[in-house]
Amino acid sequence: MTPHEGQKRLILIGPQGSGKGTQGELLSVYLQIPTISTGHLCRTEIEHGTELGKSIEQYVRAGELVPDEIVIQMLKKRITEFDAQDGFIIDGFPRTVAQAEEAESWLRPTKVIVIEIDDAQAVERMSQRRACSQCRYKTTADFVAKHGDECPRCSGKIVQREDDLPEAIQHRLNTYHQITQPVVSYYEAHGLIERFDGAQTIPKVFMEIAHVL
Ligand code: AMP
Repeated sequence: MTPHEGQKRLILIGPQGSGKGTQGELLSVYLQIPTISTGHLCRTEIEHGTELGKSIEQYVRAGELVPDEIVIQMLKKRITEFDAQDGFIIDGFPRTVAQAEEAESWLRPTKVIVIEIDDAQAVERMSQRRACSQCRYKTTADFVAKHGDECPRCSGKIVQREDDLPEAIQHRLNTYHQITQPVVSYYEAHGLIERFDGAQTIPKVFMEIAHVL
């Protein structure tokens, strides 16, 4: 897929808990282009019980990376869909330098947005994270402690994501530092990186990002 004039092809990078998912949603509304999360693509395949879903289930549950060719196949298909014609925001890819290199000929990002946050704060935010198991409504452990675990939107059960449990959180942060951070250096060499301080409030981070787009 060759990028066309004015098309925004953004990549969001940041450790879990940096607010990357939230900023992706806000940017999606602001720019009227979809946010494509490779983690979400993986979880959807698993939930639908597809052959692909069955083949990646064990990796996702353990917080391990899914084999490159599978993620690349899913993403390549998704970015050619109609709603991504004017651009897209990718959350979760590339996770490794090998993926960035493989994507060189077809991904062609116009900017790479890096949201930074230290490990202690990332762990604290992630251990607070809760979501509805049915409609994915996002909330916090504090909310559940106060109001119970019934989803205020669909009455489903609010749970903690399996890969947000403490051991999996640390494992995912280690993976981020070892494998994903070199991707930032890779795109830095291409002059595409914009860095933001994820410890700030959500609106502040959003305003700063919107300013550079
Ligand atoms: P996330 O929601 O981005 O934390 O992703 C959840 C899980 O999906 C990861 O722990 C991996 O198992 C899988 N995944 C998402 N993106 C990728 C990727 N680019 N490469 C390999 N596995 C991925």
